Amino acid sequence: MNKIKALPDNLANQIAAGEVVERPASVIKELVENSIDAGATRLQIDVELGGRRLMRVQDDGEGMTRDDAILAFERHATSKIRTAEDLARIGTLGFRGEALASIASVAKVELLTKTESILAATQVTIEGGRLVDVRDAARDTGTTIFIRDLFFNTPARRKFMRSEATENYHLAAIVTHYALAHPEIAFTMTNNGREVLRVSPATDLRERAFQIFGGNLLESLLPVSGGREYVARVSGFVSAPRERRTTRDAQYFFVNKRFVRDKTIAGGLLEGFRSVLPHGVYPVAFLFVDIPVEEIDVNVHPAKTEIRFRRGEAVKDVIAEAIRSALAKAGITADLRAESRFETEPYVPVTSPPLSPPPEQSGIQFGGEAPKTQQQVGHHVHAAAVNAFSGKLPPDPASAHAESREVLPTAELVEAISVPEPRRTASGYAELPPVDSAARISKPIDIEDLSASKIHPLGQLHESFIIAVDDEGLLLIDQHVAHERILFDKYRKSETARPIESQNLLLPETIDLSPAQSEAFQLIENDLEQLGFGLMRLSGRTVAIKSIPTDLPPSEARNLFAEILDTIELEKRGSPKSTLRADIAASLACKAAIKINMKLTPEKMRWLIDRLLITTSPTTCPHGRPIILRLSMKDIERGFHRT
Ligand code: ADP
Ligand code: MG
Repeated sequence: MNKIKALPDNLANQIAAGEVVERPASVIKELVENSIDAGATRLQIDVELGGRRLMRVQDDGEGMTRDDAILAFERHATSKIRTAEDLARIGTLGFRGEALASIASVAKVELLTKTESILAATQVTIEGGRLVDVRDAARDTGTTIFIRDLFFNTPARRKFMRSEATENYHLAAIVTHYALAHPEIAFTMTNNGREVLRVSPATDLRERAFQIFGGNLLESLLPVSGGREYVARVSGFVSAPRERRTTRDAQYFFVNKRFVRDKTIAGGLLEGFRSVLPHGVYPVAFLFVDIPVEEIDVNVHPAKTEIRFRRGEAVKDVIAEAIRSALAKAGITADLRAESRFETEPYVPVTSPPLSPPPEQSGIQFGGEAPKTQQQVGHHVHAAAVNAFSGKLPPDPASAHAESREVLPTAELVEAISVPEPRRTASGYAELPPVDSAARISKPIDIEDLSASKIHPLGQLHESFIIAVDDEGLLLIDQHVAHERILFDKYRKSETARPIESQNLLLPETIDLSPAQSEAFQLIENDLEQLGFGLMRLSGRTVAIKSIPTDLPPSEARNLFAEILDTIELEKRGSPKSTLRADIAASLACKAAIKINMKLTPEKMRWLIDRLLITTSPTTCPHGRPIILRLSMKDIERGFHRT
């Protein structure tokens, strides 16, 4: 007897369902794609119990005849391609012909559909891949599909479903994606009868983005439009650099109107933003890439959210170029051609007069006040370094910035601007002998070694690190993470003790939440109030922040909020409350903590050290980085060859 057997169709479908139907949101994705492919102008999506109990998608598309309605559930049955050549040039969202078969193999499905030309509608019922019933029914032209009891016959898969809140988040997110990609289509979505999204047909992406995200975000969006013939056209919007996100959640990419997750596009976007956004900060983006169908392979992933570009590098370049020109048009970067030379320069807003402090001021400052001579010496050294570098007298770095915005930077100017900061040239000073690096001998410290009464702060290094001594030697304390640790402990304690003190905002800040954020917000509203936020739901998805914790600078409130909503990573939304609270407390602590590059009075340094030492973990910050470095007497003596 042969040991190899072809699997029965239904089993094959269930296996395919493992890839196509990862979670309720992937079902909705396939159904919405089908409706769009059918030319729908109006889509209604209703879900119950995070999609577990019911998902229903109704459209006014072309519908199906009775024969087609039955065939649609066959594996590899599709109306969208016929030949292998078609596969190389796919213009529809679907083409694999396996979505309906897969979904029907793991759920109870009812399809109601009618075409324009045939009077009666057809109703098809399928359960776990078994055709149960086909009959005439009544309906206008279009299709309604009900998916009930997802994974009812695959208990293992059912177990892997996340909490209702997690699934709701994903459901809202996927519908948002398609609503953005198709402004011309009206979308309505409800969840347990509650309206999550309702948008009427819009004229363009901008109007659609406004419908979904509200005016706040829209104000900060810059139009992107560019491309190169035979490569790709790029259009859409990106945020101005002041809108900061710590995750890529607010980046939406579409290739030929198909929503994709794609590294090439993400790479081009980041490349375009390189000079204006610090590492680890991501822009908001809605990017549409239109590309000849022969230039991409969409058949690389069963869920069709990944694609392959034939010429990825060229596409990436085109995107970076389009982003850079969008930033330049908005006056955010000086000029396209000089762009690459500005890469190491921090972003300086055009309108704000206080340019970044000249680097020579950031030396060691004792007791908070920098002695004048120190600055002057510093300046001389800096000037010398510049001279050595470019061979001519340097313009003031600040005015170089300012000028570069009005005129095309000349070669010299660019040269002068790209002078590295003095601390990087430190080893290049011809007149100074090289200094041994302490990199190998300074170490993160153990808590037992510390006693507050013995630590004496001396001053700050680069207005960022506290220099202190104790019996054991020298200590360097990162002022930002030290304060972060203190605040984190305070916020964590608030769970058990009384709520955190809060301050009223002069003007309440209103924030428009996306449908997905709105789902996430429900989950954390109480925690935020415990932490000292006064919040009020206004109409729809708008939330007003009336008060914030006293430690938090009001200017940080908006960004903190966006960050909290974004960084509660998708998966964590389903995780226990305690880690969620820790995440929020960590974000809040980070935003409220004093920054680096900030001058501290001796009293403030003392306060920081005293408070730090009574925290739960004075040596590591909530994100796991060290707070204190120690250079011990022993190591110092060894360094000087005194032992
Ligand atoms: P694919 O979309 O890859 O072709 P599916 O399994 O998703 O495969 O759908 C199979 C077929 O059913 C489609 O090719 C299409 O002809 C038909 N179909 C599915 N949904 C709809 C709909 N909402 N309106 C009209 N036809 C549909
Ligand atoms: Mg399909």
